[in-house]
Amino acid sequence: MIGVFGGTFDPIHYGHLRPAKEALVTLGLEQVRFVPAARPPHRRPPVASAEQRLRMVELAVADEPGFVVDDRELRRPGPSYTVDTLMSMREEFGERTLCLLLGTDAFVQLETWHCWQQLPQLAHLVVMPRPGWPIPDSDSGLPAWARGTLVQQVAELARATSGFLFFLRVTPQDISATRIREVIADGDTVADWLPPAEFDYICQHGIYRK
Ligand code: ATP
Repeated sequence: MIGVFGGTFDPIHYGHLRPAKEALVTLGLEQVRFVPAARPPHRRPPVASAEQRLRMVELAVADEPGFVVDDRELRRPGPSYTVDTLMSMREEFGERTLCLLLGTDAFVQLETWHCWQQLPQLAHLVVMPRPGWPIPDSDSGLPAWARGTLVQQVAELARATSGFLFFLRVTPQDISATRIREVIADGDTVADWLPPAEFDYICQHGIYRK
């Protein structure tokens, strides 16, 4: 099984990295592919350039076995739609099981994503709790499209290459990139929220400073 973790990563932080590590171990993933969005369609343009965000991801995952940087959205023109990324991974990885990793905030907004109905046809959806965003604890709390796809056991994910929904109980990390950008702009340190090599890169290049 391959984990796919897309994001703006402006910057990547422990709120991404720690849940992804728990997903890698708990789901027994062969790898987690971090996919920075070159041109994220649903939000204001990122502060750091796509190349800087890619570099920060490279530095952040460098010492983590099983973590892989995937730059396909930077190599593709146009808006960075997850559906296109999963389709290209399907071509590359064939009938391997793909697990799209999402925080709860992303999951509850999924219906705003481009061609969102195709996403469960391409991958399992693995949702990780994010502080402030409660997860539905039963089928009845889910959006209509997701009912009947919920599985409770990790082992069930191996029964298909896509199509299931799984809530992964990871340790909550109350960290956001927005907060990190604000703290740096205010001249304070964010050293506890991201890996040291990435922190050094942000300082050296003056990223997010006022
Ligand atoms: P911003 O504050 O700029 O919106 P962010 O911190 O939410 O950024 P993104 O790059 O937008 O980070 O998030 C990418 C993915 O990571 C999304 O699926 C999001 O739900 C998830 N995610 C981000 N932070 C956390 C967190 N602290 N815990 C769990 N999931 C998270």
